[in-house]
Amino acid sequence: MPTSKINVTLVTGRSLDQGEALDIGKITERYFKKVAVIELDEEDLKKLGVTNGGTVEIKTAYGSVVAFAVKSRFKHQGVAFMPMGPWANIVCDFNTYGSGMPTFKGVEAEVTATEKQPLTTINLLKEYCEIELPSIIHEKIKVNEEGEEKVHEAVICTFCGCLCDDLQVKVKGNKIIEVRRACQLGRSKILHRLENRILSPLIKEEERFIKVDYDTAIKKTAEILVNASYPLLYGWSSTSTETIRLGIELAELVGAAFDNTSVMCHGPTILGVQEAGTVAATLGKIRNYADLIIYWGCNPVFAHPRHLARYSAMARGIYVKTRKERKIVVVDVRETPTAKIADLFIKIKPNSDYELIKALRMIINDLDVEVDEVGGVPLEKIYELADLMRSAKYGALLFGLGVTMTKGKGRNIEEVIRLVQDLNNWTKFVLLPMRGHYNVVGANMASLWLTGFPYALDFARGYPRHNPGVTSATELLLNGEVDAALIVASDPAAHFPAVAVKNLAKIPVITIDPKWNMTCLISEIIIPSAYAGIECEGSAYRMDKVVLHLKKIVDPPPGILSDEAILKRIIKEVKKLRRL
Ligand code: SF4
Repeated sequence: MPTSKINVTLVTGRSLDQGEALDIGKITERYFKKVAVIELDEEDLKKLGVTNGGTVEIKTAYGSVVAFAVKSRFKHQGVAFMPMGPWANIVCDFNTYGSGMPTFKGVEAEVTATEKQPLTTINLLKEYCEIELPSIIHEKIKVNEEGEEKVHEAVICTFCGCLCDDLQVKVKGNKIIEVRRACQLGRSKILHRLENRILSPLIKEEERFIKVDYDTAIKKTAEILVNASYPLLYGWSSTSTETIRLGIELAELVGAAFDNTSVMCHGPTILGVQEAGTVAATLGKIRNYADLIIYWGCNPVFAHPRHLARYSAMARGIYVKTRKERKIVVVDVRETPTAKIADLFIKIKPNSDYELIKALRMIINDLDVEVDEVGGVPLEKIYELADLMRSAKYGALLFGLGVTMTKGKGRNIEEVIRLVQDLNNWTKFVLLPMRGHYNVVGANMASLWLTGFPYALDFARGYPRHNPGVTSATELLLNGEVDAALIVASDPAAHFPAVAVKNLAKIPVITIDPKWNMTCLISEIIIPSAYAGIECEGSAYRMDKVVLHLKKIVDPPPGILSDEAILKRIIKEVKKLRRL
């Protein structure tokens, strides 16, 4: 019998459809259809009496939102999944509990069937920010298709932290006509590079965008930053390391807070590493040596689709050559496509990572665990995993946001690190965070080599300070502590909790980005830029901290500058205003 409501634990994360749609454009119908959804177990859908594609209202202690209900391909009764994005952000726990990281996973929710329809991206933004939004300027780009066909070899994909460097991209004139070897996500980014582009700097005047030249937009940007008491410079993980370096110089000049997107992904990993150190390895080492790979709280089949074939589960290494020579374990709160390929799948209760890791450490260290189950996992399964870990010749624990975004945050990571350290008393074991944005590691590394701190920087006193949970972009926006923001290669309006977005919409925002996104719509100034790794050169750090050079394959749309060139010009203007 259908009931009017069910209670579920809500987790959010990357889905393949969401990842593919986001680089086409967040203001598109496609993004709305793929992201305004909640995946429910078939039995849960039946209980609600809702058909696949019907609508439901999701209510939590933090807000409510309407989304399309989708039948999950996997069994996870009582656990619901929403793709990361503006709809999920409304119902997630925005509290960071001093870590800088909101709680995007493991939130208790009530789901009810409804006749209401989900709000589109733009209407959602209007409703939550309680503002009118200017219209988007759509323009078609004429591409030169004349000339010889040319195949660019060893092109690097700039979507995720894998930075796959074996792509073949066929170009005719200035048109990209074919992309080989990339996954669905990488191919979508490269092939759709010209859709929803911004083709001229824009300034908002009387609730509409007016076209201006770069000089005017950059001058106004410099004025806003210099006149602000405490501006925030945020984003940086989807641009070149050279740009990030300039961003930090600018932050120092204007006394700003400077933060990158790791605050919303692996910030807790950094906190854990600061407490406990780490045992790292390159992806090459893992591919060649690892006979045991554990994916904990991550789903690379969706988030890093080529990771398995290039570097981990299915990769052909020098010493471990086939899948049969490897044991694969997945630890997650629900069955995922990655769990389908595992030899051992350990289903854990949401928010129980800390307890399970602690139990594993006890068993590894020959201590007795005097309970029948931990985090919903029967004791014999925990012993089975501990045994696999101790008997591996070379183990690799790859972990994702399932560990960093749940309760415990940095403390979870500390325990994961200590588990791997304990295992090194028995065998060789390494740890690798599965980093998302293609150069989020570069954002951490550039911040580290310039200031000694990897993220959540604050230059308000003229020298760098680092106090995550106080100087994190999330806290600063949640508490309304900044009075201007420069957003580079990022879309916080789509990925920050709704409360933070509401505060962002109250201050002057400048966005530097190639495409229209949600943050553009709440910006005073929009400065278009070229894509690093497609339309201009640069460098980026792979998830294992290996630095790679990004090539230019085609020209950007006419007159469009790189992030690096734009930042250099803003710094010049700021110095002029500061008489430096
Ligand atoms: S796995 Fe990541 S880097 Fe590799 S092709 Fe796919 S999106 Fe690009």
